Amino acid sequence: MVVTRFAPSPTGYLHIGGLRTALYSYLWAKKNSGKFLLRIEDTDLKRNSQEAALAIEEAFQWTNLSHDGEIVYQSNRFDLYKKYIQQLLDEGKAYYCYMSPQERDALYEKQKANKERTKYDGRYRDFQGTPPKGIEPVVRIKSPLDGEISFDDGIKGQVTFNVKDILDDFVIARADGTPLYNFVVAIDDALMNVSEVIRGDDHLSNTPKQIVVYKALGFDVPKFYHVPMILNPSGKKLSKRDGAMDVMDYKKDGILPEALLNFLIRLGWSHGDQEIFSMEEMLELFDPNNINKSASAYNAEKLSWINAQYIKSLHVNRLVEVLKEYDLDLSNYEKRDELIDLLRERVKNINELKSMVNSIIIKPNEYDDKAVEKFLKGDALEILGAFNEALKAKGETTLAEEFKEVANSFLDSKGLKLKHLAQPIRIAIVGSAVSPSVFDVLSIVGYKDVVQRIDALISSSL
Ligand code: GLU
Repeated sequence: MVVTRFAPSPTGYLHIGGLRTALYSYLWAKKNSGKFLLRIEDTDLKRNSQEAALAIEEAFQWTNLSHDGEIVYQSNRFDLYKKYIQQLLDEGKAYYCYMSPQERDALYEKQKANKERTKYDGRYRDFQGTPPKGIEPVVRIKSPLDGEISFDDGIKGQVTFNVKDILDDFVIARADGTPLYNFVVAIDDALMNVSEVIRGDDHLSNTPKQIVVYKALGFDVPKFYHVPMILNPSGKKLSKRDGAMDVMDYKKDGILPEALLNFLIRLGWSHGDQEIFSMEEMLELFDPNNINKSASAYNAEKLSWINAQYIKSLHVNRLVEVLKEYDLDLSNYEKRDELIDLLRERVKNINELKSMVNSIIIKPNEYDDKAVEKFLKGDALEILGAFNEALKAKGETTLAEEFKEVANSFLDSKGLKLKHLAQPIRIAIVGSAVSPSVFDVLSIVGYKDVVQRIDALISSSL
């Protein structure tokens, strides 16, 4: 069975790059009817794992990526890690090291002076004597002393490390007994039966160490996929300046989770030149073996474009659901389908959609100064008032076409053009000179409110 996992360190929010590897792991597990697990890597107890877990859960809920089973917290598993440390000590595969910090510094200084890689020199590897007093020992694992560590990475191909270049007998438990990162990752992946590890390639150099742990404990080594980083457009590490880092900030920016996932799958993977992928298509087409070998560049405009495509094409009911999350409930608004269809072509994000919807469904309580100055000069208000009288004379008007007919015959009778009326109507109805097709808006606002809003503008103290 394919079992994948996402294993964030609790930084307090879910990072955009993390969401991408989570998506890849999710898709691959679900596509293969496998399991997608979530593990919080909180061995560093100084950080608040509960808060971080909540932030990550929130982002998972928002993006609708569901993990199987309970969240695994490394901080709850210290006894388990201790058991494996003891096992390795008992089997002679790990040992206590009594090197003091001063001795370590001196060792590293000497290595630096000789232009060598700084690494532990194995001085306690086969130590049989009496341990020095006053030193609480760390536990080190016996790494191979020479040869190569090699694995077949699903993205990078065969990756080979020369042991002499990368390894030493690294610490697996601190002097206070707490276990270290590479040790617990390998144990957890093995015990959680993770078959495929999909993660950022910033972890590539950890992999040989983790393989040492797998081998020492007799566990099967999983298949690795090291995903190239997301870089900014100038090829540097992505930073806050380039775009949001916290997944939930995208929600604040009015990005749909569907669009964000679509954007992320394309950052590092492609299928011909297709840009838009539904979740069904992602599940059908995604294969981590086709992830790009080179880093991808973050492109904010592309995200905005994808978001606009989704806003244009999503089912109205879904957009109504989304707007609820932005505190706008259109479920009981009679003309909601027409309203959303009228606006969705014109907006790039949900914040814009919300504010356009509000400008139509809520009567304006102020009028845009610039629009007033530009379009309500001369006899504009009189013309508008006369048009309102024509509307009142006509009585109940429903369709956009009917509003247009009233306007046309009114304009003909006065020898005026639509430009004399359209902007003043907009100002009366939405408070500014910006709105979609004016007659469509009138039809949505409805006869009674149209007449009232025009009266309100005329009797305002402008
Ligand atoms: N906890 C690591 C991180 O957040 C990921 C470890 C892994 O995927 O193996 O970068």
